Amino acid sequence: MDSIKIKDKCFSISIKSEEIQKEVTRVAEEINRDFEGKNPLFLSVLNGAFMFTSDLMKQITIPCEISFVKLASYQGVLSSGHIKEVFGLTEDITDRVIVIVEDIVDTGLTMQRLLESLGTRSPREIHIASLLLKPDKLQVSLDVKYVAMRIPNDFIVGYGLDYDGFGRNYPHIYTIVND
Ligand code: 5GP
Repeated sequence: MDSIKIKDKCFSISIKSEEIQKEVTRVAEEINRDFEGKNPLFLSVLNGAFMFTSDLMKQITIPCEISFVKLASYQGVLSSGHIKEVFGLTEDITDRVIVIVEDIVDTGLTMQRLLESLGTRSPREIHIASLLLKPDKLQVSLDVKYVAMRIPNDFIVGYGLDYDGFGRNYPHIYTIVND
């Protein structure tokens, strides 16, 4: 399928499954090389990273653990508006080497919030692996060491990412068509 419609929006294919898999394999090889002997704990950020996490982890060959977290927005009392709270982390991450597995870093504010939250729990190191990065949208200074693909600013869906809850199931990535 070269184009899809989700609710009121049209999307056309922009990154095919084969290309995604190639880049995920590259990232897995980098991680296998860099974290040998470090017994990392991978923290996958639900929901968006579920497909990336699955494909990535199947190619991780070093001893490791995996867990899942969720970030929920709520309207805070501060004027900054939405605050994201981290849910689901039951592991003790004290002195652990953490690799966050995320679907996309856009402004970077979500990742910054997650780093702040994890940072209070005394991990030894925190690294970031993101399927996608929109470099021109980044608003904060972040070291996203492992990036499968850098993309332009346009809104995308597929391979775990949604539009209003739909579209996560596609094996390809689709970009919104301006109407
Ligand atoms: P940030 O805080 O970096 O601006 O945004 C990160 C979150 O926004 C991602 O985890 C994702 O849920 C959402 N997001 C950002 N860009 C896109 C996009 O192009 N498509 C979809 N589906 N979600 C996006």
